[in-house]
Amino acid sequence: MDQTYDVIIIGSGIGGLTAGNYLAQEGLSTLIIEQGPRPGGCATSFRRGGFSFDAGVHWIAQCGEGGVIHQILKELGLTGKIDFTRVTPPLVVVTSKGQYVIPEGKSVALAYLKDRFPSEREGIERFFGLQGRIAKDMVRLFEADPDAQEGMARIYFNATFPLRFPTMARYHRKRGAEVVDRLIRDPELRRILKIAAIFPRVSMVMLSWFWNIITSSDCYYPKGGIQRVSDVLAENFKALQGEILYSRRVAKILTERGGAKGVRLSDHTEIRGKVIISNADARQTFLELLESDGPSADSPFGRDPQIPSRYLDDLRRWRLSESFFYVYLGVDMTLRRGEGRAFPVIWYFPEKKDHGSWPDYIGIGIPSLHDEGVAPSGKHAVIIGAFADGISERWFSLGREGFEDEEYRKWKREIASSLVRMAGEVFPDLKSHIQVQEAASPLTFHRYTLNSMGASSGWSMDAEEQNKLSQRTPIRNLLLAGHWTFNPGGVPAAFMTGRRAAELTRQIL
Ligand SMILES: Cc1cc2nc3c(=O)[nH]c(=O)nc-3n(C[C@H](O)[C@H](O)[C@H](O)COP(=O)(O)OP(=O)(O)OC[C@H]3O[C@@H](n4cnc5c(N)ncnc54)[C@H](O)[C@@H]3O)c2cc1C
Repeated sequence: MDQTYDVIIIGSGIGGLTAGNYLAQEGLSTLIIEQGPRPGGCATSFRRGGFSFDAGVHWIAQCGEGGVIHQILKELGLTGKIDFTRVTPPLVVVTSKGQYVIPEGKSVALAYLKDRFPSEREGIERFFGLQGRIAKDMVRLFEADPDAQEGMARIYFNATFPLRFPTMARYHRKRGAEVVDRLIRDPELRRILKIAAIFPRVSMVMLSWFWNIITSSDCYYPKGGIQRVSDVLAENFKALQGEILYSRRVAKILTERGGAKGVRLSDHTEIRGKVIISNADARQTFLELLESDGPSADSPFGRDPQIPSRYLDDLRRWRLSESFFYVYLGVDMTLRRGEGRAFPVIWYFPEKKDHGSWPDYIGIGIPSLHDEGVAPSGKHAVIIGAFADGISERWFSLGREGFEDEEYRKWKREIASSLVRMAGEVFPDLKSHIQVQEAASPLTFHRYTLNSMGASSGWSMDAEEQNKLSQRTPIRNLLLAGHWTFNPGGVPAAFMTGRRAAELTRQIL
């Protein structure tokens, strides 16, 4: 290809697609290169036997009026193209002792919890009092928009942060689970308060934010499935004259005198761009795509992209977010929303003695309860998920060979059946109604997204970690978009950083 694009975007995750939409809207010639066969990265769905399964995402925050995704879709002229339905009730917890359906609205949720756990009334009040103060600080912080501040303004902002946002500063590095354990004695209530954040080791600030999402019912599902969001963005991008190449992998980012100047694909095609935005995995971007590829005719000493060693050390050292093991089931069961245990998203804590040490809990998503279109009439799509940290390292150490390995397939089958067994404790007839079954391990998530170790949301959200990369990089004309540049990662983060990558591009061009 002889043409030089204004912008080349590596990856069509939500971050890459959002950046592409803003840039194409401004008339910049923009090319997205995606290694997979369809847009979306983590935000994709697949079909089996008449069922549509979301590969990962269960619900998305910030899609309602006033939410950042709502705002971005409006700016792109896409409001109304995606029909978001609210996921209600937003939090359902099932244990061997009981079932807890947390109602919408903070005061109603509080009253419900105090009613179910009368001896913990004081602890509940104190937990939600603190949660409310932190959430207020967070709203003020977003209004101050520290990410947009440059140079001296940012240094000043950081120095005065503890004075302006005292509650947040105090609880930013404190684990939410520890705060819960300090305030609450009942093990059932402890589980409920902690599971709202899904990720187990988050800070009290993050846990507070998740509770804000739950109590304000800020959880949405796009009708038609998660793929709908990615498809709408990809279609609009093409309508704006943007170009997308699917099933083409970027092998190198080409640099010259400390600046990015294009990409080379795995089939050796070279394409030039004035600005390169990487929506790909952060470690891959800097440790593989920018790695010197040795001497050549036009560069006798090999390319040296000059990335500070500290930057690379951080990338190797920072913990990744957890990956998951998922089982996708198409079942011919009668389930009615709100009846028995049939809710769109359920968290189940199995008895340890029945299942060994892994996992502590599973999530069960039944999107067909709020979107009939994802399953044939009278049937349901059931997705069971569990954090996979600690159980898949061995297979990654075998590299890609793991996929062909019969032992790997056996391991995957065994884990899938144990998760189905656990879900069968919530829905006793489940197994006998299975018509379609698929499974995804962290290796599968890695294969489809190239995210390191199948990481689900960029860097770890653990209270002690919470890292993020700047969207500007040490390489001139190379920017980043996506969940590696925001903490917590997730779909809203991908949207926001995509928009910001487009703003930064405008400053360069
Ligand atoms: C199992 C699971 C469950 C989740 N659940 C939720 C949820 O319920 N709610 C929520 O908000 N978030 C959820 N997330 C997180 C969320 O999906 C992601 O954080 C978000 O979609 C990431 O978007 P992104 O744009 O940063 O990048 P990604 O989605 O990672 O996309 C990156 C893209 O780049 C492509 N790519 C990579 N390398 C190359 C290359 N060399 N050449 C060409 N293309 C390349 C990949 O194929 C991919 O399409 C979940 C994630 C997973 C995995």
